[in-house]
Amino acid sequence: VRTEDGLKCYYFIAGRLCPQIDKYLYSMRFSDETVRDIMTRFRREMQNGLGRDTNATATVKMLPTFVRSIPDGSEKGDFLALDLGGSNFRILRVKVTRDKKQPVQMESQVYETPDDIIHGSSTRLFDHVADCLGDFMEKQNIKDKNLPVGFTFSFPCAQTKLNEAVLVTWTKKFKVSGVEGMDVVKLLNKAIKKRGDYEADIMAVVNDTTGTMMTCGFDDQRCEVGIIIGTGTNACYMEELRHMDLVEGDEGRMCINTEWGAFGDDGSLEDIRTEFDREIDRGSLNPGKQLFEKMASGMYMGELVRLILVKMAKESLLFEGRITPELLTKGTIETKHVSAIEKSKEGLKKCMEILTRLGVEPSDEDCLAVQHVCTIVSFRSANLVAATLGGILLRLKENRGGMRLRTTVGIDGSLYKMHPQYARRLHKTVRRLVPETDVRFLLSESGSAKGAAMVTAVAYRLSDQARQ
Ligand code: BGC
Ligand code: MG
Repeated sequence: VRTEDGLKCYYFIAGRLCPQIDKYLYSMRFSDETVRDIMTRFRREMQNGLGRDTNATATVKMLPTFVRSIPDGSEKGDFLALDLGGSNFRILRVKVTRDKKQPVQMESQVYETPDDIIHGSSTRLFDHVADCLGDFMEKQNIKDKNLPVGFTFSFPCAQTKLNEAVLVTWTKKFKVSGVEGMDVVKLLNKAIKKRGDYEADIMAVVNDTTGTMMTCGFDDQRCEVGIIIGTGTNACYMEELRHMDLVEGDEGRMCINTEWGAFGDDGSLEDIRTEFDREIDRGSLNPGKQLFEKMASGMYMGELVRLILVKMAKESLLFEGRITPELLTKGTIETKHVSAIEKSKEGLKKCMEILTRLGVEPSDEDCLAVQHVCTIVSFRSANLVAATLGGILLRLKENRGGMRLRTTVGIDGSLYKMHPQYARRLHKTVRRLVPETDVRFLLSESGSAKGAAMVTAVAYRLSDQARQ
């Protein structure tokens, strides 16, 4: 007997444990009031990021992308797209035609990015990217072609134009020395030149959120928000230029990469962070940074659950107090496990399997309890993202003079796509937070690289026109 919000478990079976867990994880269960409060705080952060005098100290950076419109259907050509910084490093060839039935054709290949590369030096990383690109072009038989390249680079970058992107800071699993403060286009060009066996023209660097918005915008002209809920989390949206103090011009709109993952880095979320969030942060590659991301995204969710289970076991609330080396090992519970455990039919069976692998000899009651813990942690993430997305939607609504808003949000990311309940909970909460809006959530089926190719296509068309 499960209520709609999924937050009450089978009381008659686990009558003892579930209320106890609810109490135990009280600070992770948000009331509507808390979610609204977070939304209000986030709106203030956005305003700070946009303002001339407040941007320098703002935590939510609201980075201009120099992308000024979503695709209008007139794009065409043959492009390469690089996609670095999500769960896979991919290279794609994207052909855009005016063919009504199949306007976009894509071929892609995934390349490894071993740990020694994502934790190594700048030279090694960009040599690797250039090598993979060379390999891909070889296989596609286009090494002599000098095709325009769009680069989806899923990290915060300061841009003054489309084909320049200075890395602000690494996030997620990446920590490569010598790149922060540098233009990644220059670094990649240098590596390509060094090889000397092919040419490539990097025309645009886009964040994965922007890529997602553009991908979805190709199918739905109303799309003006792009969000990622995967390894990391972030969003972009179309802002009025007149509200962007740091970019010339007052006419029209530009896509802003909010970098909402950094929300809270100035202490503004301390009251909702828990001891588990602090522990995650301490053990991370970037302590003190991306605090919102660490509460919400897929890279940390499994680990959050593990830390909670360890503490509960220590207090003999689970597994009759059994603690195993596996349970104590960082990374043994992954977000994909959380997704499996929350499946409505096989979830408990999966839970039994996963916990058995950790050697804790779980009882049926333990499994129910752990499932309940997973629900609380993933539900908190959906609530947090609903709050920030709600903030963006309210902003869009205000920008339009408060009229009823009809809009589309393009979404991608492994957590959103793989978790059995996440999407539904997120949509529901957003609709409750921002009434009088018709929000369509559009899953980006073909990833952000297609969008990067669209941006490149527009840039290419414009530069082509400029040349003529
Ligand atoms: C990065 C963003 C990115 C997001 C999703 C974050 O860690 O800072 O630039 O969009 O992850 O990939
Ligand atoms: Mg302006």
